[in-house]
Amino acid sequence: MSQLQRESPYPMLAIDAALGLIMAHAAPLDHEEVDALAADGRVLATTLQAPEAIPDLPRSAMDGYALRSADGLAARRVVAELTAGVAPGLVIDAGTAARIMTGAPLPAGADAMIPTELCEERDGVLFVQRAVQPGEHVHTVGQDVAPGMVVLERGTVLGAPEVGLLATLGVTRVAVFRQPRVAVLSTGDELVEPGAPRPPGAVRDANRYALLAAAREAGCATIALGIVRDDEAAQRAAILQGLEQADVLVTSGGVSMGTRDLIKPILAELGTVHFGRVAFKPGKPTTFATVGATLVFGLPGNPVSSLVSFEVFVRPALRALQGDARPYRPQVRVTLATPVRPAADRPEYQRVIIRWQAGRLRATSTGPQGSSRLLSLHGANGLLLVPPGEAVYPVGTELEAMLTGPLQ
Ligand code: AMP
Ligand code: MG
Repeated sequence: MSQLQRESPYPMLAIDAALGLIMAHAAPLDHEEVDALAADGRVLATTLQAPEAIPDLPRSAMDGYALRSADGLAARRVVAELTAGVAPGLVIDAGTAARIMTGAPLPAGADAMIPTELCEERDGVLFVQRAVQPGEHVHTVGQDVAPGMVVLERGTVLGAPEVGLLATLGVTRVAVFRQPRVAVLSTGDELVEPGAPRPPGAVRDANRYALLAAAREAGCATIALGIVRDDEAAQRAAILQGLEQADVLVTSGGVSMGTRDLIKPILAELGTVHFGRVAFKPGKPTTFATVGATLVFGLPGNPVSSLVSFEVFVRPALRALQGDARPYRPQVRVTLATPVRPAADRPEYQRVIIRWQAGRLRATSTGPQGSSRLLSLHGANGLLLVPPGEAVYPVGTELEAMLTGPLQ
């Protein structure tokens, strides 16, 4: 039987120092060209300039009549009806006007339009209630998008408005960063598949499924590697399999100080372990290594620890790998709505619900913060960074938090 080690050989890093080491290894992956019109969720790899002006012709902003502003209050003869999508062939001469629909190009000669509400047409003659200014209710050429302007920057996450813009500009293919392939492996003799019979004392593998979901949420393609026993040869084989297939390998369990905690020595043998301990709760033994170009995260086994460590350390790397110019979650300052007990020795990310209330962001604890209690993450939209200390932080204390979901 091997002995329990008392001292970890790995120095204890501060959160920011650990994150800095990770991000230094998280340069964007290569590009690929995809269907622009279904590229939502992807990150643009090239800066896009407008190939043309939007609109390409001056356009009426409302239903009414195209006319010459210089004709003032005079009655005009109505000479045509213009609908959207058709470039008019006619010219509006002095004393004439054309019925025009919203979005229809303005005919030559006309420099303004008057909305239906401000005029009346009788027997083909238009009477206006007031004179109009040049350019009134007319969208000028390039008003929405000027030709050549930078429309979308490299590193932009494409969403619904961006897909709409690409469609408007006739851009059907775009270069986006490749999605990281993330392989997830669970370690532990005690683990069984969630659907399998569970012998007394055995634990269902929650981490693999939670971490796969988190990786998908972070925009990645995933590879499920399964459960591996606490056996060195088996773990090395599973890790090698992950390294072969993935850009990022995430393991859970087996990084603490127990006799069955084998992940760190295996990673040290295969590649470089950049850190093996971080001064934070929950997730002190979080480990980061690289093997060639592959990033490996050894997360702790407790389900909350593994997901919080993923949020703090893995997610920013996954966003950076896919070229996201803003890989970090927003940081906000919140006011405590419930008292919070700090850890004595290290900063702690506690799970909270952040709401906008009475002109402030207020943070309410999700309840007991045990590292096995997944319910403490359920419903949370923030990780409150609680500085270490002895005394409880009372209601009203202002602290920093990471916003991990939409405001409640
Ligand atoms: P470890 O980090 O391997 O020492 O595990 C710490 C705790 O997390 C133990 O109680 C494990 O049973 C539990 N644990 C480890 N892996 C998983 C998993 N994949 N799903 C749920 N619990 C786990
Ligand atoms: Mg274990």
